[in-house]
Amino acid sequence: QWIFLSGEFVRKEDAVVSVYDHGFLYGDGVFEGIRVYSGNVFKLDAHLKRLYESARSIKLEIPYSKEDMEEAIVNTVRKNQLDNAYIRVVVSRGVGNLGLDPTHCNNPRVIIIAEALALFPKELYERGLRLASVSSRRNRPDVLSPQIKSLNYLNNILVKLEANQANADEALMLNDQGYVTEGSADNIFIVKNETIYTPPVYLGALEGITRNAIIDLAKEYGYDMRQEPFTRHDVYVADEVFLTGTAAEVIAVVEVDGRKIQDGTPGKVTKHLLSAFRNIVKTDGVQ
Ligand code: PLP
Repeated sequence: QWIFLSGEFVRKEDAVVSVYDHGFLYGDGVFEGIRVYSGNVFKLDAHLKRLYESARSIKLEIPYSKEDMEEAIVNTVRKNQLDNAYIRVVVSRGVGNLGLDPTHCNNPRVIIIAEALALFPKELYERGLRLASVSSRRNRPDVLSPQIKSLNYLNNILVKLEANQANADEALMLNDQGYVTEGSADNIFIVKNETIYTPPVYLGALEGITRNAIIDLAKEYGYDMRQEPFTRHDVYVADEVFLTGTAAEVIAVVEVDGRKIQDGTPGKVTKHLLSAFRNIVKTDGVQ
């Protein structure tokens, strides 16, 4: 396996970074997770846009143009001869001193990892996930925007730990007003009376690229698709619940805080959107 490390391909064993890298010391950097389906890099433009916007927001200058980054990503996939893969792009602030001031870091690091995909087990898609709502809140958008996909994922890790503690597969994260926002690394949708709802991102959710693809698909298939706030109660009494994300794609939720969602099996809208999604990923991408 070859890793792209600041302009060079090095073997996985040799792909190491300095302990003085502020990505390591402070979680100072940004990242993206991207999928390759049948040789197509899915929604690469949207991922690059989000990566560069995250970087701009934290005043991190990515040392490559978007075009060069795109080329580096595609070359990393090719070099590893992968047809179906998960790509991780990381841009860290680079090496500095022990102080946290980023102005001493002059060389941002760019890392691209492409590897064969460890999909969620098929059984999980058939059975559906159990969620637990957690006490940690999504950070407030006015304090730290959820749109910054930063290397500092402690907020998300804390909720994942809480979900583990509750023996759940995933966390249900609320904002400080108690509105549902998202999972630890996935967006959430509910279906009620044939209408599909997902929280507006201003409540404190990452504007997921899979989320946006599903919103588009739902509209295309004539569903009433709304971005409106909802609470835990609305989730408990929904007809269907599902999560979306680059790694998870579309996955049903069948239980939340010990309450079964309807009969506790994946719903028909969820299944329909998953199959519609799996159809578009093969053709919609950069070859
Ligand atoms: N929410 C968070 C916090 C995430 O980290 C991710 C993963 O990227 C998502 C949602 C899903 O976004 P996407 O569909 O772009 O992968």
